[in-house]
Amino acid sequence: MEGTNNMICPKCERGNVEEVRMRSTGEKAWICDLCEGLWFKGEIIDINTGHKLQSFSRGEEIENIATKVGGEKYV
Ligand SMILES: [Zn+2]
Repeated sequence: MEGTNNMICPKCERGNVEEVRMRSTGEKAWICDLCEGLWFKGEIIDINTGHKLQSFSRGEEIENIATKVGGEKYV
């Protein structure tokens, strides 16, 4: 058990930040399930860092962009 896969999002302070793997690059990333904040591997997950998922998804479903680490489909 790692126990560190989920954390409260620093941007919206309500959502869960979940570990995912980007389909396009295979890189690990973290996505907030509420505000869709996005952080890539090596980035500090903080309120002033990160990206917006929308700028990467271009209207695509999240599940087409990233899969949850652990084999579950991102839903
Ligand atoms: Zn959030």
